[in-house]
Amino acid sequence: MIEAGIREFQASGISVERGEVLVPRLISVAGDGVLSCGAAPLVAGSLRRRNCQARLAPVPTLDDPRGHDAIVYLATCRQDDGGVLGIAAVTPPQDKLAAAHARASVEEWATAAGNRTLLAAGSPWCSGAEHAAAACREAAAAHAGSGRTVRLLGPVALPPEVADELAALGALHVSSLADAQPGDVVVIAAHGAAPEIRAAAAERELTIVDATCPVIRRAQDKATRLADRGQHIVLIGQPGAAATGPIASRAAGQVTVVETTAGAASMRVGDARRLSYMVQPGMPVEAAGGIVSALRARFPAAKDTRPAGLCYAASDRAATVRAIAVGSDLVLVLGDPQSPDARQLGAQARDAGAKVAQIATVSDITPAMLTGVTTIGTVESTSAPAVLAAEVIAALAGLGQLSVGRRQVSTEMAGNPA
Ligand code: SF4
Repeated sequence: MIEAGIREFQASGISVERGEVLVPRLISVAGDGVLSCGAAPLVAGSLRRRNCQARLAPVPTLDDPRGHDAIVYLATCRQDDGGVLGIAAVTPPQDKLAAAHARASVEEWATAAGNRTLLAAGSPWCSGAEHAAAACREAAAAHAGSGRTVRLLGPVALPPEVADELAALGALHVSSLADAQPGDVVVIAAHGAAPEIRAAAAERELTIVDATCPVIRRAQDKATRLADRGQHIVLIGQPGAAATGPIASRAAGQVTVVETTAGAASMRVGDARRLSYMVQPGMPVEAAGGIVSALRARFPAAKDTRPAGLCYAASDRAATVRAIAVGSDLVLVLGDPQSPDARQLGAQARDAGAKVAQIATVSDITPAMLTGVTTIGTVESTSAPAVLAAEVIAALAGLGQLSVGRRQVSTEMAGNPA
């Protein structure tokens, strides 16, 4: 609960330049001791939206004799456990414009203060992408400084921090083997590579690090075995998806990729008795259901090989967003608002009836977003830096008691998937 409105007092020991506003992360206050100001990035965001230069820094003491006098604007919020939170901004004396913005920013966040619940989804990265990221990191670290360049082949989906780390270690993205030099180390991405690519790499004396997702590898191996038995494979998925080509290449000439129920209804096969189907790993399982039904209606003898390539990552993620959205007054989608993944997450949350805000940084949260909001959901897009979720929690905890829960839908497959 906010106590006694906004306090304004003069203090010495804080250096604030004219034209800037200092936003304390900690502040020493007579009678209260050192207060934590977790909402500082939110206050800084408000100031920047007012075209004010905001600087975040701790102010653990106010009695540094070298400092200049300053004006402190402070709201305090007493917690149920007796602790006190601060929401503060500090301006130089006689800077009326900075003072007006500082007071207004503290005031608007003091108004938004309150106890809330936050429901957070888990990591946006599936186990296959994490497996590939670990393999890339290991290869880049092992070969750093060896004179051998590590090349990440094709579109490799990596967390932003891992991509930066690999770039710092000198690992390069390449779209084809033509860009690699003899002796280079080539990392095959999670979606795998066709046998011809592996053969060409061996011929060119390239060292391969195979980061293929285990689920996709099983699907590739299954396709090889089916082709060897003379089966024709219907691969239910998108022709342009990264995993499709490497699976289809294991059964060249014996694969038909079907993306829609209409495609299933119109496809032609030589011998309907030798037909098997599989769902492209990574495709939401529910999206394949109608196509499977259409296929089975036309070809009742078609064999289901789905256990080889079933992956619930996309389905679980969509279900998690829905579960969070229905339980929240507001869903914050973290990451670049323009990224396809963030847009998709936003659309899924809206479809579930939630109010949605896309934020690239914690400072993008506004007081208006939190009006009337007691439960906030957070979902991370793949463009979000790993620290952002923690920063959001820390900032919202600076507005009052924050109960944090994880909500994650997870499907575990039992038995032997081979
Ligand atoms: S198959 Fe599933 S786990 Fe593997 S990379 Fe694709 S989405 Fe991730």
